[in-house]
Amino acid sequence: MGIIGVAHIIDGSALARKLDDETTAGIAGLTKSGYYPPGLAVVLVGSDPASEVYVAHKIRACRRVGIESYEHRMPEGTSQDALLTLIARLNADPTVHGILVQVPLPRHIDAGVLLGSIDPAKDVDGFHPVNVGRLSTGTGGLVPCTPLGVLKLLDTVIDNLTGLNAVVIGKSNIVGKPIAMLLLEREATVTVTHIETRGLPEIARQADIIIAAAGSPRLVRGFWVKEGAVLIDVGITRVARSNGGERLVGDIAFDEVEHAKAVTPVPGGVGPMTIACLLSNTLKAARNARNHKNG
Ligand code: NAD
Repeated sequence: MGIIGVAHIIDGSALARKLDDETTAGIAGLTKSGYYPPGLAVVLVGSDPASEVYVAHKIRACRRVGIESYEHRMPEGTSQDALLTLIARLNADPTVHGILVQVPLPRHIDAGVLLGSIDPAKDVDGFHPVNVGRLSTGTGGLVPCTPLGVLKLLDTVIDNLTGLNAVVIGKSNIVGKPIAMLLLEREATVTVTHIETRGLPEIARQADIIIAAAGSPRLVRGFWVKEGAVLIDVGITRVARSNGGERLVGDIAFDEVEHAKAVTPVPGGVGPMTIACLLSNTLKAARNARNHKNG
């Protein structure tokens, strides 16, 4: 069988702009009704260069759609107690609707304890055990941003996921597992795979949908992909260029999958949707708080 054409490239940047427009309009509606503008508190501990870049992106994105952002930059040596006190203050602040603690955290901080101290109603990352439980029981709550972005990208190319075979590569708590839960909620048949999975290429070849979230550059080769499959590439690895600088490489060998139905690029696929979903989650949290106050 020859090449059937070129896979459709799903434009994550364009979809993110569309979602941002909806968020901007939603915020305008909220403030017109006399409620506070949505507020997002971002807590950054230490000075990890990649985290600095992510936080700067998030703050800029907040400004774009009309979310008030409150940056809390804490020195590397900040104690766990001091951070818990900060979170308690943000939990109690009615102008703060979302709280985001940038990971990774310094080694002396127990991330589970800190993330678990965030009010689940303000947990716009969706990492709190209450939100994890709600996602796995299909009972609402705030859904983690990258998995939500993945689902929205899939929705642009597949009308109905019912009964489709989906293979998720990677089983992390923040990406792989929540994606699997979202796909199960949509009645897909889900296989979650990881570094110890045997025969991954054969498993992947059965898939109508492959979500690659391993952080292993060009892991998914063309021969792993069934004709007409839809591929979402979550992986981002920084690779040095021979002439200096670096480029971002995904988990899918993009140039080998022209026989797929559709594929997301890296960059410009899942990345922009992650930030757009953070903003829409913050609006959702603000709407919930307003309804709670009025209720
Ligand atoms: P992680 O390291 O916590 O988990 C990686 C998972 O992939 C593990 O379950 C591991 O078993 C599996 N894995 C690793 N190598 C594998 C291999 N060769 N074969 C099969 N499975 C393998 O990483 P994470 O936090 O889940 O992130 C995964 C990737 O997604 C990373 O590249 C990360 O940078 C990227 N990411 C992107 C966004 C975004 O906004 N686009 C957001 C979060 C994470």
